[in-house]
Amino acid sequence: MYSARPPRLVGQKSSVRQVAKRNRDDLTEKTKLQIAKRAGWLCSFPTCRTPTIGATSDGEGEINIGTAAHICAAAPGGPRYDETMSPEERSSANNGIWMCRDHGKAIDPTDSEFTVERLREWKKPAENESMNGRMDLNNASASTGSTSIPSAARPS
Ligand SMILES: [Zn+2]
Repeated sequence: MYSARPPRLVGQKSSVRQVAKRNRDDLTEKTKLQIAKRAGWLCSFPTCRTPTIGATSDGEGEINIGTAAHICAAAPGGPRYDETMSPEERSSANNGIWMCRDHGKAIDPTDSEFTVERLREWKKPAENESMNGRMDLNNASASTGSTSIPSAARPS
């Protein structure tokens, strides 16, 4: 069968994208996953904590409404860009914060009131909460806190 489909146009658009990409220290998919998991897949915005992942309505897949945001921007001119960071630091999980889609957008403007310090303040409790939830650390430390010697073991 003859297909008259024209070749895909790869014009200026894609070359512009490549140029833009070259100077960005983007988070890899693996790193994004790390960031999401560390936050327990919950938005790190203090009053939000929306679960960002769940099953699709047909039960056949997962839907992710979360986004890994850079704390310090991936490229010059971006929000909170820190020129003293190395590309490795900039694209590391430590420089990312897990947000729902809305809050990921909210912290994006370059004139953002959301400073590096503020985002780091959010990231820490979000990760601590997920750790405590997973390990149930509060209960664990309560039960092992006082180990008493059985009275039978004491010399009379
Ligand atoms: Zn949120």
